[in-house]
Amino acid sequence: MTKTLHTPQPRFDLLRVPLVGRLLRWRWGRLTGQLLLLLAALLLIYDGFTGPQLAPDNLATVVVWVHYRGLVVFALLFFGNLFCMNCPFTLPRTLAHKLSIRGWRWPRRLRNKWTAVTILILYFWLYEWLDLWASPVITAWLIIGYFVAAFILEAFFTESPFCKYVCPLGTFNFASSTISPLQISVSSRDTCRTCVGKECINGSAQTLGCGTQLFAPQITSNMDCILCLDCARACPHDNVALTVRHPLRETSQLNTWPRRWDLNFLILIFAFTGVSNAFGMVPPVYQLEIWLASVLHTQNEGLILLLIFTVLNLVLPIGLGLGAAWLSRALAKRKESLRLTLARYAPAFAPLAFTGWLTHYGGFHFLSSALAIIPVMQSFLLDNHITIFGQPDWTKGPVLPMAWLDPIELVVVLAGFGASLYVLTIRARRSRDGLAAQLPWIILLLALAIAMMIIFYLPMEMRGSAFFS
Ligand code: SF4
Ligand code: SF4
Repeated sequence: MTKTLHTPQPRFDLLRVPLVGRLLRWRWGRLTGQLLLLLAALLLIYDGFTGPQLAPDNLATVVVWVHYRGLVVFALLFFGNLFCMNCPFTLPRTLAHKLSIRGWRWPRRLRNKWTAVTILILYFWLYEWLDLWASPVITAWLIIGYFVAAFILEAFFTESPFCKYVCPLGTFNFASSTISPLQISVSSRDTCRTCVGKECINGSAQTLGCGTQLFAPQITSNMDCILCLDCARACPHDNVALTVRHPLRETSQLNTWPRRWDLNFLILIFAFTGVSNAFGMVPPVYQLEIWLASVLHTQNEGLILLLIFTVLNLVLPIGLGLGAAWLSRALAKRKESLRLTLARYAPAFAPLAFTGWLTHYGGFHFLSSALAIIPVMQSFLLDNHITIFGQPDWTKGPVLPMAWLDPIELVVVLAGFGASLYVLTIRARRSRDGLAAQLPWIILLLALAIAMMIIFYLPMEMRGSAFFS
């Protein structure tokens, strides 16, 4: 642990705010949040299996596909990775560790984001093919699957590999939290230099250290931080801080995360999946499916969707990312590997990528359907013979007038595009690159932003609620 310590001195530390800080550092704070979400998950599983199998009338589908996704993106925008902080899937961790015969280390070859990216891409394909959003039973099985997968991996391996290397939800949250305003830091680097036990990462007899093996004084990125605050509870010097930072600070700095293929392609894939996921809900995707079915002489929808989403989610981000890196390197007259050029500019896609998801999940699905939780809950209670909350009013849904959504979405995408351009410019300036080296990336960003605007302005399936636009 003798590397240079990069973390800036925190100007504002949320952990020092009266009450809030105490609550966050409270020994049972995370467990309380996890137990609340566990109860919610059990409720969703119960209704998923026993409730009505109509998606807009079932808690499992409405909460998972409307509320969970909407609330997660808003939490990431205003705070940080709050879902991972309270994630119920890792609750059986202690039991898993007790049952484990030995804690293997996660295989070295898998200590990267490729597994998580592959699962994320498969998940988006299955989401479209099996209409996950339309089936309460499948949604309930999906929740159970998360618990089982997290438990098995925790039982056999150390280092929380489920969170860091496997979980698609965590991967989505890690990529998004690169532009969140909160980040773990330390109050005094001098204290860390003389600290013997480094309990924030190593833990102690009474406390857990960082499960994802991050070392607080060296953290420059939210990538892999599940915001569990175990480091803050473990530090014997009360030196860990939860700092408020500029949301574009992480992506603007050149050395915030390793210049690895997987991390930088993750950001590009995160951007492209944001577009393709929305594309799967608008009319042109059906026309494309019909055309492909006639060209390929097949009615196999799974195969057709696999082809569409492999191209959109894998071939395009990798192909265009490599193409832009090659052009950028040539125009800058640099002699460096494509990996370095890609790492120089790929982080600039994070703001636009996130605003694409924010527009889609937060702006469209959540704002147009959030209040649907009221009739769905009333219906659930009635089905379970609790009548005091009355009959459901199925007209409830939109939080804002539907006519407001298009302008809001446009503003959010434009803000994301502007933020990405800003980050790109800063990164170019710090690399001493001119406009020519930035051009391929600007064109790619512009193409993505235009694609988002076109898709978000098309009639989109509501998925999970009873309203149609
Ligand atoms: S335990 Fe605290 S003082 Fe020691 S290295 Fe970690 S953050 Fe610094
Ligand atoms: S640095 Fe590690 S221990 Fe601290 S909040 Fe993040 S994941 Fe948890």
